[in-house]
Amino acid sequence: MADRPATLHARTLDQLGRSIGGQVIGPADAGYDEARRLWNAVHDLRPAVIARPRTGQEVATVIAFGREHGLEIAVRSGGHSPAGHSGVEGGLVVDMSAMRGVTVDPATRRARVDGGALLGELDVAAQAHGLVCPVGVVGHTGVAGLTLGGGVGRLQRGFGLTIDNVGAIELVTADGRQVRASVTEEPELFWGMRGAGWNFGIVTAFELRLQPFGGSLNRGISLYRGRDAEAVWTTFRDYALRAPDSVSLIFGIDRAGSTVDIPEELAGRPIVYVAWNHSGRPEDAERDTAGLRAGPTPLSTTSASAAYLDVQTAHDLVLGFGRRSFIKGANADDIRPTALADLVELVGTAPGEGSFSATAMGGAIARVAEDATAFAGRSAAFDLSADATWDDPALDAASRDWVRRAMDVVEPDTTLGRYANENADVGPEETRLLYGDAKVARLAELKRAWDPDNVFRRNHNVSPAPARAADVD
Ligand SMILES: Cc1cc2nc3c(=O)[nH]c(=O)nc-3n(C[C@H](O)[C@H](O)[C@H](O)COP(=O)(O)OP(=O)(O)OC[C@H]3O[C@@H](n4cnc5c(N)ncnc54)[C@H](O)[C@@H]3O)c2cc1C
Repeated sequence: MADRPATLHARTLDQLGRSIGGQVIGPADAGYDEARRLWNAVHDLRPAVIARPRTGQEVATVIAFGREHGLEIAVRSGGHSPAGHSGVEGGLVVDMSAMRGVTVDPATRRARVDGGALLGELDVAAQAHGLVCPVGVVGHTGVAGLTLGGGVGRLQRGFGLTIDNVGAIELVTADGRQVRASVTEEPELFWGMRGAGWNFGIVTAFELRLQPFGGSLNRGISLYRGRDAEAVWTTFRDYALRAPDSVSLIFGIDRAGSTVDIPEELAGRPIVYVAWNHSGRPEDAERDTAGLRAGPTPLSTTSASAAYLDVQTAHDLVLGFGRRSFIKGANADDIRPTALADLVELVGTAPGEGSFSATAMGGAIARVAEDATAFAGRSAAFDLSADATWDDPALDAASRDWVRRAMDVVEPDTTLGRYANENADVGPEETRLLYGDAKVARLAELKRAWDPDNVFRRNHNVSPAPARAADVD
């Protein structure tokens, strides 16, 4: 690619505007700052142009424009990439927010979801027919970014990852072809799209399989003292390994807020929590989660039933755009007691808000064969992650360092694969850790076939170069 210009001529932007009916936004336009804003405020990027295509043909036109003008291309759906991949300094953002349609066919239990739709839009459309697709836990996340990496949430132990519910994917490739991938059409591409999908093209639509779902969740959360971490973990782990598929659950270490549930002397200190969602009948919830109550006495316990759509949007405001963030994750089957003690101490000393969690995998996730999709580490019992949130840019380096140190603590416990969508570190070594050597080699072969010039590289990138396993953006 040629050197990228810092700004494009107004005439050049007009030309793009005329060739697509959709919106084209440059740095001089009103709305530019809002349009370039990403969920993670660390990534304050100023693209030369933001284009909002409305059709597959317009997506192809925008890609061709970017390539012709030597612009690095970023693709944006919900804008939640932890690494800021959906923005680009001085380049072209293909913003899919004008393609947000969701249509549901209750007879076939299928949804057609455009490449810029948000989780909340899919949830509402599917629930109108008593159906659901297992997606993530915050409504303003993009379906595309989440699905192309895997898709973990409240119903996955019962229904599988989001990618396990994808029937077909329509995308526009680097050379402007409109392609459909499914188990029978371009099956190898379909394999790679489910776990490393951002590498191969811009998705214009997904066909998703929907599951019948009553629309309410039974939920509970218990809080414990930090010093009980090991005993709480043991109870949580033993229960999680044999829990019914209808229960999703998470173990976490966080700093206590000042709430009525917490004795005053614990406010601001590390506490441990166990939270669960039960998608079965309300009258079965207590019985199905009884194993969680075998451990230490909690400081507090609450449980209730709630409408699925309310739960899915409950965190939309508190996890809104504009704060600074860093996250890393890894798979594991257990956590050593010494690591738990170290994590409790670390959480107490995080520079901003730092927390650690272990999400139970298993169930339907683990029943799909490891080599069925590019997503790596299906047999892992837990998805571990450490994340930090802060506001002061002066804390950037310390917060990143804190997350990396927390994940170093559990490094000896980790198993194959990491979930790409919860990893803000990027680079060849990171890509290798996400997928493992065998999958990186298979993905690189696919990359050479579909994007040999690495046009789509603002992602957890797989390099098409045969001599190297992976590349950075
Ligand atoms: C508040 C919050 C909550 C989250 N909750 C969950 C959760 O519950 N479960 C979970 O699994 N993950 C969760 N995540 C992680 C989430 O999966 C990733 O952040 C994911 O990248 C979000 O996708 P997006 O479309 O919003 O992001 P974007 O930043 O728009 O895109 C992410 C990546 O996908 C690419 N991309 C976007 N659209 C397209 C497209 N149409 N075609 C091709 N490539 C595209 C981008 O280029 C970029 O590389 C959460 C993240 C946040 C910030």
